[in-house]
Amino acid sequence: LVALHDVHLSFGANPVLKGIDFEVQRGQAVSIIGPSGSGKSTILRCITGLLRPQHGEIRVGETRVDALRTEAELIALRKRVGFVFQQYNLFPHLTVLENLVIAPTRVAGRDRATAERDARALLDKVRLSHKEAAYPGELSGGQQQRVAIARALAMRPELMLFDEVTSALDPETVGEVLTVIRDLVRDGLTCVLVTHEMRFAEEISDQVYFTEAGVIVEHGPAARIFGAPESERTRAFLHRAL
Ligand code: ATP
Ligand code: MG
Repeated sequence: LVALHDVHLSFGANPVLKGIDFEVQRGQAVSIIGPSGSGKSTILRCITGLLRPQHGEIRVGETRVDALRTEAELIALRKRVGFVFQQYNLFPHLTVLENLVIAPTRVAGRDRATAERDARALLDKVRLSHKEAAYPGELSGGQQQRVAIARALAMRPELMLFDEVTSALDPETVGEVLTVIRDLVRDGLTCVLVTHEMRFAEEISDQVYFTEAGVIVEHGPAARIFGAPESERTRAFLHRAL
């Protein structure tokens, strides 16, 4: 469903991605791990079309993301790709339910009844049905992050990208957000996760990519990357992170 081939990207004179090859099959969960500044978020932003590489190919399904030109094409891509990051960025003046209804009705053109029915089903999935009338400011960080995930799902994306969605949360609320992601993976939604939660990545990922300084040092099944890494650099990173 996702394929990056020999992607190079620089910010000015600073090369950040130096020949990235990366693949996600439909229905897989793939994690990207690696030190700070290694290019993990940049890879996700390339997949959404938010950043354009200087060289290389990026595909989401049949779409050549690196070749998209018009705003309409980019909007069409973003309907297919849900993106959740550290800051939840909910609309503070809208209720939880309205946060989930607004994009499907205004951007995807769904009727209000359908959008509300979807929204309630998603709130049930993230275990927040009792909060549909609340405002974001009345929720805990973990609850807001679960609403943010439900809001992304409300567009019925083919693919979900999660960028360190638990790193701003209190330790006691991290688990409730990971539970929601685990459920989505078990349901067969295609997911790419950038995470510092190594145990979680090991548990849920089909494939794990280890990045360092803009290159993929190695990738493979989670059990192999965590159990028997080939690279000394991966081993040193996991030793520090676990
Ligand atoms: P972290 O674990 O800290 O989130 P990361 O692996 O996600 O790190 P990226 O955010 O992809 O790293 O950043 C990779 C490199 O690109 C860093 O050196 C960063 O300073 C640089 N960078 C990222 N975004 C920009 C930008 N908009 N302009 C200039 N440099 C940037
Ligand atoms: Mg990052």
